[in-house]
Amino acid sequence: MKHFTKVNILGINFLNITQQTFLNTLEQEINLHHNCFVVTANPEIVLLARKNHRYQQIINHADYVTADGIGIIKGAKILNQPLPERITGYDTMLNLLDFANRNHKKVYFLGAQPAVIKALIPIIQQKYPQLIIAGFHDGYFKDPQPILTEIKAAQPDIVFAALGFPKQEYFINQYREISNSLWMGVGGSFDVLAGKVKRAPQFWIKHHLEWLYRLIQEPSRFKRMLALPKYLILIYREKFARHKKRKA
Ligand code: UDP
Repeated sequence: MKHFTKVNILGINFLNITQQTFLNTLEQEINLHHNCFVVTANPEIVLLARKNHRYQQIINHADYVTADGIGIIKGAKILNQPLPERITGYDTMLNLLDFANRNHKKVYFLGAQPAVIKALIPIIQQKYPQLIIAGFHDGYFKDPQPILTEIKAAQPDIVFAALGFPKQEYFINQYREISNSLWMGVGGSFDVLAGKVKRAPQFWIKHHLEWLYRLIQEPSRFKRMLALPKYLILIYREKFARHKKRKA
């Protein structure tokens, strides 16, 4: 594991690096067959970790935790500990797929609904023909054993776990020792890559409105989106607490 400076935001330690440096680092980790756990954390993950100490420990014991989403970047700025840029799970996954394709790496795909993972595999084969598919499984299993047996036998270079948080982090934390792979939770990324949900067009991303685009697509996410204002209130509270401490 390489060491970089970190920025603590409400209890989670975020890597203070650019997307390019991060990608280079992960490529090295893969080439060296290091066992590596990557979390791209958004404000929802930060909030859950504040409530759930076990989850917080798991995240902070991951090898690399990056700022997924504008909320983390804004929070860091408000706390006067700026982070250079967002490093999202989806972009990191796409970059790693590209790397895997160029270098004939083996990848295991775990997660999403059965129909989504089934649709995803031919898309991967077509877009990344040199990548080796080590195996795949949907994310709605009761018994993880057959999946673990498959991963252990294949020893993939990368395991993407699209089980949503916190399930994917619990899963990786519990089972990562079975294979010296890069393990990464990618949330709803398989849904996007398989075309089930659309990612916001550049315009929306550029204007920091990706959240609004997602809300329009999936109105059922409304309750989840209340996490953002809640998170910002905590950020400001933290800012004033630090300010008071400095003055005292
Ligand atoms: N999922 C899964 N198993 C579960 C629960 C969820 O595979 O037991 C999948 C779900 O099908 C979806 C992803 O996990 O593909 C979670 O998507 P969401 O958009 O909620 O994740 P986010 O990117 O917001 O963390």
